[in-house]
Amino acid sequence: MEGPGSRIIFRKLLKHAGGTFQLQLEGNVIGLVILSRVAIYGKRIYLTLGENSYSIFFGMFGRFSEGPITGKKKPGIILASSTATLSFYGCSIKMIPADSYLEFIDESKDLTSAEFDLGNTVTEAKKAASDDELICDVLLDQSILPGSGNIIKNEALFRSSMHPARKMEYMTLDDLYGLFREAREFSMKWVEASERGEKISPFLAVYGKKHCVKCGRPLMKEKMGLGNRQTYWCSICQK
Ligand SMILES: [Zn+2]
Repeated sequence: MEGPGSRIIFRKLLKHAGGTFQLQLEGNVIGLVILSRVAIYGKRIYLTLGENSYSIFFGMFGRFSEGPITGKKKPGIILASSTATLSFYGCSIKMIPADSYLEFIDESKDLTSAEFDLGNTVTEAKKAASDDELICDVLLDQSILPGSGNIIKNEALFRSSMHPARKMEYMTLDDLYGLFREAREFSMKWVEASERGEKISPFLAVYGKKHCVKCGRPLMKEKMGLGNRQTYWCSICQK
């Protein structure tokens, strides 16, 4: 799940903040707790429940439901009240000291936050990434662009005509600005589509595609970068 998916879940959870729930962790009933705070940073959701907080990462297969528990797989966290059942399936869950996440959340870097600051994120990225780092890796670095994921990476590179294997030393501030602006715009389009209950697939220009929508030539497809992530690009349109 990328930032836009987590943002939608965060908005749903916000409606329940302040409520009292019976907490179940990995099938064990913990007891009644107050959901005193809900936060998001990039792809992660944070819940403060009683004396602890939980950092929740959805990864490739995690999902959230507000309805009754379904399917064979049991949720890792269940928050149940008389009016709602909030369930987190297939997520990585870490218990941390209550509200400790507030120390490192920086809304100005979060791709799907209303406070996202493009200029600041570009300046920070130039400082944080080394010269020989590939731009496809920088786009997935959660300390630089929290919320970005592999689909956002591919789409932003294509839309800004940038080759995925370009090294940071060849990225000017203007290049980074254009690239991160595309990442932001695509991410917000994804959030808005999800709010309307629509899928992102009709908005994809390059991810999972076979031909370039600009020049019509076959696209390149290769596992690339530190995480060996699937990368699509046009060898003619992206330099
Ligand atoms: Zn092309």
